[in-house]
Amino acid sequence: MSFASQNFSQDIVRALTECGYEKLTPIQQQAIPHARRGSDILANAQTGTGKTAAFSLPIIQQILDKPKSRSRFNARALILAPTRELVAQIAKNIEDYTKYTDISVAAVYGGTKMSSQEKKLEPGVDILVATPGRLLEHMELNNVTLANLEFLVFDEADRMLDMGFITDIRRIMGDIRNQPQTMLFSATFSAQMNKLAGEITRKPKRISV
Ligand code: AMP
Repeated sequence: MSFASQNFSQDIVRALTECGYEKLTPIQQQAIPHARRGSDILANAQTGTGKTAAFSLPIIQQILDKPKSRSRFNARALILAPTRELVAQIAKNIEDYTKYTDISVAAVYGGTKMSSQEKKLEPGVDILVATPGRLLEHMELNNVTLANLEFLVFDEADRMLDMGFITDIRRIMGDIRNQPQTMLFSATFSAQMNKLAGEITRKPKRISV
């Protein structure tokens, strides 16, 4: 199955071709059609399966389909991941996929100056990729608002729970006023994970690779 046959914009297909992507990986084949239609997703997937494109391409295309002018400190999509390395990698991939579009991406994680991240958040961003702890710090300083969030992703959700981010995640969720399309990716599904998944998703499509 090719990316062109999935009705992605020409600008996306061109960028993906430059990334060397020709055919969808199995997780992408399963997730993309549902995610494009706005369904919530619960995916059991390991790293290296192509999950970043599986959750980010449907978000990118939906943002392109419904352009909105940016408003101060607003984020349309939030992707939460456990480590700064993973956040940086996801943001880099999304920048590669969106290089021929005007979609804006910001990465927020610890160990880097708050002020330089704040500058990126202030005009509003389309896609924000963040570790939970650093995101909360920015939220407490009113550097970002999730009140109008449309898309929410938990990547490597089991690692986020193992690292003790559950309290941070609940506080972040408390700022979300609407019901964003929610996608959760995890290599394992413990009882705690299933409980969280049940709370944050609505009629999710279950996917396993
Ligand atoms: P991920 O699981 O998202 O970390 O992706 C693992 C690796 O596969 C990364 O280097 C991606 O750039 C690459 N990748 C993802 N999707 C595809 C695809 N459809 N075709 C070729 N490579 C891909």
